[in-house]
Amino acid sequence: MKYISLQNTNYKKTFREAVLQGMAPGNGLFFPEHLPQFDTLFFEKARKLKLHELAAEVLWPYVSDDFSRNEIDAITQEVFSFDIPLKQVEKNIFSLELYHGPTLAFKDVGARFLSRCMQRFAGQTKKRVLVATSGDTGSAVAHGFYNIPNIDVFVLFPKGKVSKLQQKQFSTLGNNIQAIAVGGTFDDCQILVKQALGDEKYRHELGLTSANSINIARWLPQSVYYYWAYLNLPQQFNKLTFAVPSGNLGNLTAGVLAKHSGLAIDRFIAATNANKVIANYLENGEYKPHSSRQTIANAMDVGNPNNFSRMLQFYNRQFNMLSAHIEGASYSDSDILGWMNRCYRNTGYKLDPHGATAYASLKETDLADGEAGVFLETAHPAKFIREIQDKIDYEVDLPEKLVNLMNKKDELVEMEANYDTFKAYLVNQS
Ligand SMILES: *Cc1c(COP(=O)(O)O)cnc(C)c1O
Repeated sequence: MKYISLQNTNYKKTFREAVLQGMAPGNGLFFPEHLPQFDTLFFEKARKLKLHELAAEVLWPYVSDDFSRNEIDAITQEVFSFDIPLKQVEKNIFSLELYHGPTLAFKDVGARFLSRCMQRFAGQTKKRVLVATSGDTGSAVAHGFYNIPNIDVFVLFPKGKVSKLQQKQFSTLGNNIQAIAVGGTFDDCQILVKQALGDEKYRHELGLTSANSINIARWLPQSVYYYWAYLNLPQQFNKLTFAVPSGNLGNLTAGVLAKHSGLAIDRFIAATNANKVIANYLENGEYKPHSSRQTIANAMDVGNPNNFSRMLQFYNRQFNMLSAHIEGASYSDSDILGWMNRCYRNTGYKLDPHGATAYASLKETDLADGEAGVFLETAHPAKFIREIQDKIDYEVDLPEKLVNLMNKKDELVEMEANYDTFKAYLVNQS
């Protein structure tokens, strides 16, 4: 399997090259040259598989030029080592809980897979991963790469602007993970990372790379849990709708990939918060990016989703075809709070603000007889509701993983948002 650039389809790379490169020139996203097809026989056999075995089957066609079967088996066994339960919330509504990994959010899946791929591709050469974070990505990447030999991770975050819990998640690990508190905003952090990665000679000398969410190795493994949900659904259902809390559309487009490989998904709902570029696009075909708006589902505060071009590619840029498979929905903060409380009152199930948008979209759509609605619960409620606890009718205990974390000591360096300082620091660390 080769990967083409969506900016220039003559530009083709192997999986290995695409992973190490991250993006094609001109900010082109990599996309599989053809889509593997799974047939009925595959799905019959797949029912007997464990999650990590299923992951190896689904991912094998994408990586078979660069990994041996043993390697992908080993990688998927490490990556998919936590549960992804499908819980029935109502008669025809299910929650796919993607938050049982180390940082309690779905990004663990992609970050862990990327780290294992990079480790194998980097071999004996030292790599340094730079990541700017406004909170969630930093922790998933830090944990994904924790203790991976020969790879150091530098997490840049705006000092005093991420939650205490989020900061603890990447600043207490130590070893190969270094947290850097930058005196500035998230954008300042991102600029420092871009400057370093754009510094060709220096990037090469220090083996600098990014763990960006559009990296093909973060994107592809996310399609696995759509198969898993389908296979775990009670068999009386004969139609399936997935509702996906969406920001950059990585998660949603990974589901669309599964559908285009033969998985029987009837439709998708892209559920968003007040950042409704995609919901608007799906309604009227006009794509109007804007700067992001702050909401209580902050991991979805995206005004210009960076996987949009992948979404178009599946439908050859035909809006009519695309909008026949994917619907949009958007919710204000007060809508989200309302649905969180209503869901708890009616079912006892505790949503987080991100999953709540997707749950709401299923409640507001018509589910036919025999149709199941599955929403992706992308984060553990404890991770996000502390900030809005006074507006929620329920409490959520901090999972043990997080309680232990709160007692650990942060280790970080502080730095001004200045490229020369950052560069000198990195050179000094090498
Ligand atoms: C990142 C994130 C999202 C959005 O996922 P995309 O792939 O960017 O659309 C939704 N929920 C949570 C909790 C997240 O961390």
